[in-house]
Amino acid sequence: MHCEATGSRSHKQRGIMSSLSDGKVKPASFSNPYFYRFAVGDAPATMVSDGPLPVGAHTSHYANVTAEEMEAILDANFIRKDKMVLEQNVLVIETGGKTVLFDTGVGTLERYGPTSGQLMNTLAAANIDPASIDAVVISHAHPDHVSGIMKADGTRNFPNAQYYINEADFNFWTDPAKPSGPKVDTARNNLLPNRNRIVFIKDGQEFIPGVTGILAPGHSVGHMMFMIQSGNGQLCYTADLAHQYAIQLEMPLSEFLVDTDPAQMAQTRLKHLTILAEGRIPMLGYHFPWPGIGHVVRFGDGFRFVPSAMQMISVP
Ligand SMILES: [Zn+2]
Repeated sequence: MHCEATGSRSHKQRGIMSSLSDGKVKPASFSNPYFYRFAVGDAPATMVSDGPLPVGAHTSHYANVTAEEMEAILDANFIRKDKMVLEQNVLVIETGGKTVLFDTGVGTLERYGPTSGQLMNTLAAANIDPASIDAVVISHAHPDHVSGIMKADGTRNFPNAQYYINEADFNFWTDPAKPSGPKVDTARNNLLPNRNRIVFIKDGQEFIPGVTGILAPGHSVGHMMFMIQSGNGQLCYTADLAHQYAIQLEMPLSEFLVDTDPAQMAQTRLKHLTILAEGRIPMLGYHFPWPGIGHVVRFGDGFRFVPSAMQMISVP
């Protein structure tokens, strides 16, 4: 077997380094391509990643799932049990004459560790110029979705973009009456400087040709999903309808403690997983296993995620 000499360079060093020179973007820490091109109907699409997000012990996240139930599901799905690690799958799609990006990752926030905050690096790897993004659609104002709007120096990562978010979510997280805290401060820092570029979006509104908002409240007051239609294709971007793809699908009424209203979100989750499964609708989960695209099917009393295999060459 022929092995190419790599000298002392590690896989990490051979990864793509940041194309930005301000020194404030986290260094690229991926050694495999972390973008994936596909299409939704006639619309060219690319998944880019903001990198994996470790969020602590599985057991600390649920109000009504026992340790035994959790362990059994993780075991059956061969998922690591020591900590929950969520992907951050960012969709870029060309639709309605616009280049649209959905959610922006954790940006330069240090508190989420070195593996996340990769979006600007993965966009560069995919040859997507941040200046070419016309629309940034925000599912809700949590830090792992809004923090990549602004750079550390207070300028914009997407200088030519208009921003879209549900008004209730914007108001909730930027409410001047709310005390300062990590989540509130992050929402304010990223959203308020763009107030005059923000378009508020409503349930059922097709706010960009081919992109319709679906209110899915509970995770956050104005948490939204998005149905994308093009030609004969469709894709439902479910954002944070579920975080851990096995536990929260098998037990859709599991109450996730990060949710603003866990009980409301459990009902929202059950409703939309049912619609996705019955309609056999292709879906994308922001926190699902890379690149996050697949289907939901019924499984026992709940559901199961069936990931779509990546197609590296599309066979006609
Ligand atoms: Zn999230």
